[in-house]
Amino acid sequence: MNFLASDALRGRGSATPDERVAATYIASELEQYGVEPSGDKGQYLEAVPVIRRKISKAPQLQFTLPGASAPVEWTHGGDIVVMQVGRGSASGPLQKVEVGAGNAVQKDAFVLLSASPGQPALTRADAEKVAGQGAAVVMMAETARLRARWKDAEQALFSEKVEAASAQGDAADKAGIVVLSKSAFEQMLALADGLEIRLDAPEDAPQKTFTYNVIGKIKGTNPAPSAIVFGAHLDHLGVASEADGTFYSGADDDASGVAAVLELARVLGRGPKPKRTVLFALFGSEELGGLGSTYFAEHPPVPLSQIAAELEFEMIGRPDPAVPADTLWLTGWPRSNLGPTLKAHGAKLTGDPHPEQNFFRRSDNYWLAERGVVAETISSYGLHADYHQVTDKVDKIDFKHMDRAIGSLLGPLQWLVNASIRPKWNPGGQP
Ligand SMILES: [Zn+2]
Repeated sequence: MNFLASDALRGRGSATPDERVAATYIASELEQYGVEPSGDKGQYLEAVPVIRRKISKAPQLQFTLPGASAPVEWTHGGDIVVMQVGRGSASGPLQKVEVGAGNAVQKDAFVLLSASPGQPALTRADAEKVAGQGAAVVMMAETARLRARWKDAEQALFSEKVEAASAQGDAADKAGIVVLSKSAFEQMLALADGLEIRLDAPEDAPQKTFTYNVIGKIKGTNPAPSAIVFGAHLDHLGVASEADGTFYSGADDDASGVAAVLELARVLGRGPKPKRTVLFALFGSEELGGLGSTYFAEHPPVPLSQIAAELEFEMIGRPDPAVPADTLWLTGWPRSNLGPTLKAHGAKLTGDPHPEQNFFRRSDNYWLAERGVVAETISSYGLHADYHQVTDKVDKIDFKHMDRAIGSLLGPLQWLVNASIRPKWNPGGQP
């Protein structure tokens, strides 16, 4: 953990060479513990294709009214704010869709999304949903909230983005999301479906690169296939200032979780072989929205149906004053019987005391949970002020707490990897 959070690793920036060094180090630890490789072609590392993109000039939305000689042009930062470029420059027919009205989204359409009468204003999540249905671009009206940060949203588009790439390493096929000013929205609402709309989004040539997961495995002795995954994320926010030599060390976030998974690997690797297969998954690019874990969920080393549970370790380096001493909490506690079962076997584990923070959806576990695997995150993050700051350093780690907390889990987790019980979602618990 000292090494992972050291300046030598420069903050383990997502999808950077520093992240790859961290991954290589973790792989060598797993090897030393007698854990087999389960990444790419007999390696511990799993290269996940990602793409770096940078918008070079303010995008425009254009269309030409019937009979008009010049197009109407709306520019990013003015009448529109492009939240997500998606495919980049594209054109397609206008399709007006009312949320909940049940209209099927046309492939490659420029969908103008509106709320049903009397329903609350649309959110980004509404747009994401439609974006996943084959549209080229999803357009929606501004909200008061977005209007208040229109300038910030305008600026945000120009920062470099790292996104999941297709298997060929190209930009993944996802829809753009564009917010229209009130007047632009009204104007477009009056247009006929089918009118050709164009999004022009100049960008620098995208760079293909990789983020890295590290996957290790201890094969279980049971002939019936069943696996438990222990996970943590190995990346963090990288360099704060190259000039000052300051880094986001991410000692708590999430070198502490990696240390917990490595400790489990050490204990399970030297002991008798567990009945179940145990996978150790250290994910890259969690900080960019779970790119490594999403890839893992899409390309699992064993079929997802065989994964009985995943436990993610996130920020366990300091005690959370909201729970008793030496205790860790589990996100999504009411969602499944996993937490209560481990507690019944002696784990000092309790429910997440900060449900309003929605941590269940904020870590790598989510992408597996979404696909049905009972996957939850263990943490003791007490909402400290060093979160995502350069001050998240090793000197703030409470090693006694970490020792006791991980120690209290060893027995219950050894039980879990030898048990045959299959943890279950409670009704309505699976996201
Ligand atoms: Zn984290």
